[in-house]
Amino acid sequence: MEQLYLIKYGEISLKGKNRKFFEQKLMANIKQQLKPAPFSLLKRVGRLYLEYDEQYEQQISQVLKRVFGIVGFCKALRTRKDINAIGKAALLIARQLLEEKKGTRFKIEARRTDKGFAYNSYQIACKIGDLLRSHYKDVTVDVARPDWIINIEVREHAYIYGPASAGRKGLPAGCNGKGLLLLSGGIDSPVAGFLMAKRGLTLDAVYFHTHPFTSQEVLRKVEDLAKILAAYIPGLKLYIVDFTEAQLALKERGSEKALTLFSRAAMMRITSALARRFDALCLVTGESLGQVASQTPASMHFTGSFSTLPVFRPLIGMDKEDIIDLAKQYGTYELSIQPYPDCCALFAPQHPLTRPDVPELITEFNNLAVEEILEKTGSKIECREF
Ligand code: ATP
Ligand code: MG
Repeated sequence: MEQLYLIKYGEISLKGKNRKFFEQKLMANIKQQLKPAPFSLLKRVGRLYLEYDEQYEQQISQVLKRVFGIVGFCKALRTRKDINAIGKAALLIARQLLEEKKGTRFKIEARRTDKGFAYNSYQIACKIGDLLRSHYKDVTVDVARPDWIINIEVREHAYIYGPASAGRKGLPAGCNGKGLLLLSGGIDSPVAGFLMAKRGLTLDAVYFHTHPFTSQEVLRKVEDLAKILAAYIPGLKLYIVDFTEAQLALKERGSEKALTLFSRAAMMRITSALARRFDALCLVTGESLGQVASQTPASMHFTGSFSTLPVFRPLIGMDKEDIIDLAKQYGTYELSIQPYPDCCALFAPQHPLTRPDVPELITEFNNLAVEEILEKTGSKIECREF
């Protein structure tokens, strides 16, 4: 009898001809996250089996909880296709559930894809149900409202498993190509990254650093946030753009009330140029409708028009409370709220534009003649890998 993890994936099994591609992406992401633990990952119809070394169990279950595309997973026992061996495995699983005080009402769900097996599904369920009842005094069968279910599947081997832990669901990161996430040190943009990765984007992050007006502590915080993102998004890189010269030029040449919009527009322009260079297909921001002056429909019309690629804003219709809940779930909240000395108020207008005349403001931006500076800024990047 061997112990392994059984991994179930939901939505990706519905994708028709693309299914293989999705499955391969999911497997590659799991493999990348599991390193350096020794394991073997096998694909069977509609599910994956992960054989592992027991000493890495904790680490492996953490990874399975994180990887997008996994609906649920559980420890399973694999035995010979023999009713006695199946019974032994079911007893072991039941004992653990009883020890964990998961309740006493149970149900056996049996499935037999190997029609050559001596018992049909109903007979398997009855036999193993009887065995459990004769072994553990307090347990009763309750098919309508069981506290726990033991699943038995007779396929190329027999698999026996109890209740599954929930996975993150979604699609495997990368199956929808790559995006560039505009990552600041705040609460929102990391959450935007998680949500898009969950829909199958892999991401690299771009941070615009305005040193010395923004402190090195903020940069460190962004690096730490990127590290957390990388635990969910295999291979995520962080590009740090030296934005100081561009920011100062915008401040000097543009009107004060438009400064935030101009600086966001410059970020969009530079990031979409970087996206083309790094084979990304779209941009992702943490903007949410009406949250601040630069996030009104007209403001985002203006800033978005500086991107040559689609801009995805997954938080657009979300309340701050709900964004915070997600930040807590993903583990970025505590880091995002750490206060750091920041003199960026220097670049925050007292009365920012909320409803710019978009064509007029685009003309004003073009008249600033910052093209060359923005192009140069796009080449002043450093890359961090995790
Ligand atoms: P966040 O909590 O993500 O910082 P926010 O509510 O503070 O968002 P803004 O500061 O207006 O919003 O920024 C809007 C979006 O623009 C951010 O979510 C992020 O995607 C992007 N952004 C802002 N500043 C930077 C920066 N310095 N580097 C990279 N992206 C940035
Ligand atoms: Mg911010």
